[in-house]
Amino acid sequence: MLSPTVQKLADFFAKFPTVGPRTARRFAFYLIKSDQNEINSLIEAIENLKSKIRLCNLCNKSYESDEQTSGLCAICSDTRRDKTVICVVEKELDLEAIEKTGRFKGLYFIWETNNEEQQFKKLFGRVRKDQIKEIILALDPTPEGRQLALKIQRNLDTGIKITRLGQGLPVGGEIEYADEETITSALEGRK
Ligand SMILES: [Zn+2]
Repeated sequence: MLSPTVQKLADFFAKFPTVGPRTARRFAFYLIKSDQNEINSLIEAIENLKSKIRLCNLCNKSYESDEQTSGLCAICSDTRRDKTVICVVEKELDLEAIEKTGRFKGLYFIWETNNEEQQFKKLFGRVRKDQIKEIILALDPTPEGRQLALKIQRNLDTGIKITRLGQGLPVGGEIEYADEETITSALEGRK
């Protein structure tokens, strides 16, 4: 039986993606042994997330709020990028993986699963306003990713080209973990 203080912390960690209750408890015990300076730095880093990091109004990507005041991330405010193509991803790490290839010149939309109705509104608003020509669904080849792809396809106005990443991504794998070559060929082979 963990003491209530340790349990409370472990419960927080257990909410993190991929962290199970055992790992959560290990994190908590790691912190018990950490010195005060390290704890203070950790608290500061967490506080900064809320005070300095904003989510882009257009694509939901996080950015440092002192970088600019436009409400847009660096990608969305880059005028050289093609505004008529949107790549929909499930999480920011997928966006980072695609950006790393340097092959995609359009904009993104990170689908926030916790508020689906708002996401549809946001994405469809962009489609109407920015004369989108193509939406690339770069969703993980998992049951959840496939379900989301179907939902978006069903709800989008016709007339817009909707493509999905081509073959090559491992079934059940995640874009986040795919190498640059795989992502590049999946992007080029989209249909
Ligand atoms: Zn953005």
